Amino acid sequence: MTADYAGLGGWTPEALGLAGEVLTVVSAPDPVLSRPGPEVDPKSDEVVRLAADLIATMRVSPGCVGLAAPQVGVSAQVFAVNVTGHPKAVTVHGVFALCNARVVEASRWKAGREGCMSVPDLTGDVKRASRLVVEGRLPGSGEPVRLVTDGFEARALQHEIDHCAGLLFLDRVAGAHAVYQRKVYL
Ligand code: ZN
Repeated sequence: MTADYAGLGGWTPEALGLAGEVLTVVSAPDPVLSRPGPEVDPKSDEVVRLAADLIATMRVSPGCVGLAAPQVGVSAQVFAVNVTGHPKAVTVHGVFALCNARVVEASRWKAGREGCMSVPDLTGDVKRASRLVVEGRLPGSGEPVRLVTDGFEARALQHEIDHCAGLLFLDRVAGAHAVYQRKVYL
């Protein structure tokens, strides 16, 4: 455990100081989705703008619970998550963006169905930790944060951290039998 890591506190996207623009979401097999993103300087103007753009894009995308920089064509370890109001979510930290996030504890692995805006036609069953501790940096302040979460929010975080490492849920499914044609588009 790292002593200087705190929770999200009262962080809101307004802390970024700008509204962000809606960007185009890229789809597989765009190579940017398969490229591990570099760590970023969370205090840089570029990263603050990127975080605001991810949040703005997530907000206009129905059913979107997370969006990572590679999905808007930027290879970088930045993502946004918001599982507020999702029926499967238990612990909910609201809308937040994280830079350079790492899984530091993961347990209680469970299979669950996932989709992705960058893989619009498929869903798949993926095993994820349902108890999770993640450490990262807030865009803007660069403040180190430690998030303890579970269930659906934990799944969303692992999915987005994977994007930043160049991995899609398709890289995590047990095999072709665990991939499904999407029937319902939100
Ligand atoms: Zn995704």
